[in-house]
Amino acid sequence: MSRLLPEAPEYVSAESRGTRGQSMNVVKETRNQCKQRFRNEIKHKWIKNPLHGQYMREAHREQMHQSLTWNRLKIGGIKGKTEALITTRQDQALATKYYKSKILGISNDPKYRLCKKYNETLQHIVSGCPILAAKEYLDRHNSVASHLHWKICRHFNIPTHDKWYLHQPKPVVDTPEVTIIMNHRIITSLRKKPKR
Ligand SMILES: [Zn+2]
Repeated sequence: MSRLLPEAPEYVSAESRGTRGQSMNVVKETRNQCKQRFRNEIKHKWIKNPLHGQYMREAHREQMHQSLTWNRLKIGGIKGKTEALITTRQDQALATKYYKSKILGISNDPKYRLCKKYNETLQHIVSGCPILAAKEYLDRHNSVASHLHWKICRHFNIPTHDKWYLHQPKPVVDTPEVTIIMNHRIITSLRKKPKR
């Protein structure tokens, strides 16, 4: 049977091959347009969601770097558990007192248990509580600065501890090549209120 049926390309003229190719392109283009429209619809629905759309709305502000913001999803180097926690945090779906009170409706006290003054939202816990600012935020800030200092030292081959978290930055590290200053007041021509 296969011997009786010639190969298809021999019977397709160049003209009809061209027409078929064009129609395939049209199909492909239409399919891509459909996909794009479908994606846009999903995105639009997501952004409009009052609770879970918050992160998407935040992420589309001008100050946010678009490709860097979503880079971690492409790299994929984060453990599943951590990724889930980040996504849950972005979706505002962690069981904070505010969430339990305003979204789930199973409590009537949305205030943060530490300060008892502001709503217990993630933003408040992460960066807005005056009680945590005195120590926790300062410790976090110092840890980041210390890690940065450790990285700079290693870049210039200055002896440091193997583990960054055991690194104790000195106020001044002076070498013939570079001087690294840590936690110093900077004198400028303009008077600026320090941000701590
Ligand atoms: Zn607070």
